[in-house]
Amino acid sequence: LVSRENHPERSTIHVGGVPIGPRTVTLIAGPCAVETPEQTLEAARMAQAAGAALLRGGAFKPRTSPYAFQGLGEKGLRILADVREETGLPIATEVVDAQDVELVASYADMLQVGTRNMQNFALLQAVGAAGRPVMLKRGMNATIEEWLMAAEYIAQRGNLDIVLCERDIRTFETATRNTLDVSAVPVAQRLSHLPVIIDPSHSGGHRDLVLPLTRAAIGAGADGVIIDVHPQPEQALCDGPQALIDADLGELAQVMTDFPALL
Ligand code: PEP
Repeated sequence: LVSRENHPERSTIHVGGVPIGPRTVTLIAGPCAVETPEQTLEAARMAQAAGAALLRGGAFKPRTSPYAFQGLGEKGLRILADVREETGLPIATEVVDAQDVELVASYADMLQVGTRNMQNFALLQAVGAAGRPVMLKRGMNATIEEWLMAAEYIAQRGNLDIVLCERDIRTFETATRNTLDVSAVPVAQRLSHLPVIIDPSHSGGHRDLVLPLTRAAIGAGADGVIIDVHPQPEQALCDGPQALIDADLGELAQVMTDFPALL
């Protein structure tokens, strides 16, 4: 269903009216985690200043450590909905458990499945039946073939509104969180008609890598990027070191407008 063999045209997916697909580079930006109404609104304004068309923000956080901030849950979803009302930005937010899909789908414009859940088949089937577009991150230990098969689980339930998101893969390198596999963009686009975006924030894990990796993503033909921004990253409850700050937004906006035009 997601293969390009029977569907040679590359697909465009619409999220709250915002297109993600060929001939555009969509910016999705916002806080890693929803922390407070003020922080989320400020981050959304930052995202808009950089030209974002969609707001990201996690209310259910899949943290490596059970002692780390796990997200605000439904309270976080309500904050996101209020910020959507205020800014007009449709929301992409993660769902980590099949049991929460209905709840998250009642607030979100796009459901995100994270790297750790790429092969959580019950979750994939549930988001496939939820009636919302899905962003499927590549598992950090998954091949491209496994990633596309995970997408197939969602598609099988009747939902072809899927955006593939390359996050990174585990290698021997420790200077970055993991290694961004830029080649996944043209490979996945050759094999599948689905749009492919990149997450330069979670892959690098460092603020100073985000803009170079964004350029790499656009250069490789990505259909979008998803980027963390935070008004006060030093106080962030989640992944502050990778969040762009106010001072970075001008350059991000420039990359998003100028760089695709140069290709
Ligand atoms: C996120 O985007 O908030 C997130 C937790 O992503 P990942 O699944 O890539 O860790």
